[in-house]
Amino acid sequence: MSSGLYKALKGMKDIMPPDIHIWQDIEKKAREIFASYGYLEIRTPAVESTSVFIRSIGEDTDIVEKEMYTFQDKGGRSITLRPEGTASVVRCYVENNLHGLPSPQKFYYMGPMFRYERPQSGRFRQFYQIGVEAFGSSRPEIDAEVISMLAHLLSGIGLQELHFQVNSIGCEKCRPGFKEALLSFFEGSFDELCVDCRRRYSQNPLRILDCKVGRCIEIRKGAPSVLDHLCIDCRDHFQKLLELLEMLGIRYTVNPEMVRGLDYYTRTTFEVTSENLGAQNAVAAGGRYDRLVKEFGGPETPAIGFALGMERIVELLKMTLKYDLPAPEVFIAVIGERAGREGVRIVDDLRAGGVWAELGDWTSSLKSQMRRADRLSAGLVFVIGDDEIQSGHVKWKKLADAATGEVRISGIRDFIIEGKQA
Ligand code: ATP
Ligand code: MG
Repeated sequence: MSSGLYKALKGMKDIMPPDIHIWQDIEKKAREIFASYGYLEIRTPAVESTSVFIRSIGEDTDIVEKEMYTFQDKGGRSITLRPEGTASVVRCYVENNLHGLPSPQKFYYMGPMFRYERPQSGRFRQFYQIGVEAFGSSRPEIDAEVISMLAHLLSGIGLQELHFQVNSIGCEKCRPGFKEALLSFFEGSFDELCVDCRRRYSQNPLRILDCKVGRCIEIRKGAPSVLDHLCIDCRDHFQKLLELLEMLGIRYTVNPEMVRGLDYYTRTTFEVTSENLGAQNAVAAGGRYDRLVKEFGGPETPAIGFALGMERIVELLKMTLKYDLPAPEVFIAVIGERAGREGVRIVDDLRAGGVWAELGDWTSSLKSQMRRADRLSAGLVFVIGDDEIQSGHVKWKKLADAATGEVRISGIRDFIIEGKQA
């Protein structure tokens, strides 16, 4: 039972120890891997003008229609807590003329996103994404790079058995033809489609392919495949990407029904799913967005990126990996006020040397100090009282194997730090 007067908002949660260590491990691994691929960090504000998102994500998408945290600020401006990262990064890229730098320009970000969704397993109202965006190359090699980087990240943090799905949804040249084909396919069964799909029919028919309603899934059996409608350039791009993925040993399936829930995608789209999650099984998703920079007022700049959902990744890791909590290397138990004072000096000295050291409370019994050392899984325990201070020597005990020994009090720091190096 929770206590206290206040609760975090619905769909928002605290991230605390011990889980926080998993989060930090993922973030650390991501920074390492992104660095080796030449991606640099970018931090954009968590709030933007509402139009930044409407423009990019698309008016008829779930995010913009239903899920945005939109407010008026005190100056009467409409502002929105970012529901995803790409729009903000593109805004930043154009605003700061980053296209003037040698391309490709490659960035990553990490941080909270906000969507007013119905909270359920794997769905929060504040959730965290790690994402990357690469600007300035239309080559399939960069698509392969981004997908391979994601694969390395996921396997690097210990996730296996993930399923990569890829698709191409064409470009401004070939998509109109595909839309036409879809419209004539669904024309006869229009009245049987769900309310949303009837709206999608006129506004964004591709998204009918993504509908989760049983009847719509039934109706769309035998619908035209986007892959049959790609223009030569898009087909060539997709074919080359698949060859590169094969060369890199990335196992994937082509899913021509995968159209993402954001409007800015062109050509390559991809998604990574796990069978070990429930209904919300997508852990990462991304794709090309070759027109977005131009739409934001920048020069024509092809781009591609992905975002992964931290909560779902953490959930998967908790199922498969056993995490050890970090533990102090040293615990100093102290008997009496004088030893207590000496203990303050010793732990301060150790900490300055980068060693995690904890000090017992001299006003509590030795027994309860030892219990605390035990609960913390401390490495070495020293017990210091008047006798030790008098003689200048102190005994230590290793909790893991009960090994013991003795050192000079003045030599504790060297003993620990050199012992660490040895
Ligand atoms: P979904 O189909 O699960 O709604 P989406 O298409 O809305 O996903 P994207 O916008 O592509 O998701 O975001 C990329 C990733 O961010 C998702 O694959 C998922 O892991 C994570 N994600 C999206 N929405 C949420 C949420 N509300 N809570 C937690 N994670 C989320
Ligand atoms: Mg969603």
